[in-house]
Amino acid sequence: MNKKTFTFLLTIILIITFNSHSWSWGFWAHKRINHQAVFSLPPDMLGFYKNHIDYLTKHATAPDTRRYIIPDEAPRHFINPERFKIPIDSIPEHWQAAVDLFSNDSLQEYGIVPWYINEMEFRLTSAFKAKDVDKILKLSADIGHYIADAHVPLHCTSNYNGQQTNQEGIHAFWESRIPELFGNDYNFFIGRAIYIKNPLKTAWNIVKESYNAKDSVLTFEKRLSDNYPSDKKFSIETKGKKTVKVYSIEYSKAYSEMLGGMIERRMCSAILMVSSYWYTAWVNAGQPNLSSIENKEPSIELMNQLKQEEQDSKSGKSPNKGHVD
Ligand SMILES: [Zn+2]
Ligand SMILES: [Zn+2]
Repeated sequence: MNKKTFTFLLTIILIITFNSHSWSWGFWAHKRINHQAVFSLPPDMLGFYKNHIDYLTKHATAPDTRRYIIPDEAPRHFINPERFKIPIDSIPEHWQAAVDLFSNDSLQEYGIVPWYINEMEFRLTSAFKAKDVDKILKLSADIGHYIADAHVPLHCTSNYNGQQTNQEGIHAFWESRIPELFGNDYNFFIGRAIYIKNPLKTAWNIVKESYNAKDSVLTFEKRLSDNYPSDKKFSIETKGKKTVKVYSIEYSKAYSEMLGGMIERRMCSAILMVSSYWYTAWVNAGQPNLSSIENKEPSIELMNQLKQEEQDSKSGKSPNKGHVD
């Protein structure tokens, strides 16, 4: 193969790799966040959650699977505050006020993650009241996913993949490549879950922190890229049978160091918040005794539904909209 053909093939691979935009922390990080959140729960909840830790870990990425089969799913994972064309602090905190000002259609386009976290919290509280194992598990795994997504600065800006600043690929670089390379060295001792007085306001605060961090995320990478030998920025790795072009380990390390622990901090905050939203829902449900349902497995129906979603997402089949609750 001559050099030209090689470069051409690399470009193709690069396009394929970078276009498969995952929209959320990589699988590794989502699973780790839900898994780790269990250990910050108080003793009264720990037994139930520990018994179901495999479910919560495995299905941490289920909402991403649904993006391929449910048209309404995508906006639940992000918000683009710039699209509202008013300062982020002026965006109405409450859903109805925001709908009145911008219309439901626009909100679905701009992204709805803070409101959806609040909605999930409300449903999780009801599930605890009913001691409904299926719903507690499904909603706990799902809300963990959305809370984690809201912690990613590139989920809270319209320049979500650096496409406006010639930095395509930065999304997966920040949320997948770096945590997958260095996440095992992160310190996840984050203390106990806290009671969240106002779940909606807290969801907005998470989004605002992410939004405030987006400029560092983008400008640091730009600065690094401008000053980095271009032949050392990427490397070739084999993933299974595929050969892919990835940001090199050295480049990833340099970027991660420039960010000064930001990714580790956002991941830790995500873990603490996931645990705290679970805990808050349980408190608001009246602290039901979970020992009677501690050993109950999720139903065959739920497991079949999740399996079906995975199959449908692969085949691109589109089931009816009311599929997710
Ligand atoms: Zn997501
Ligand atoms: Zn993402």
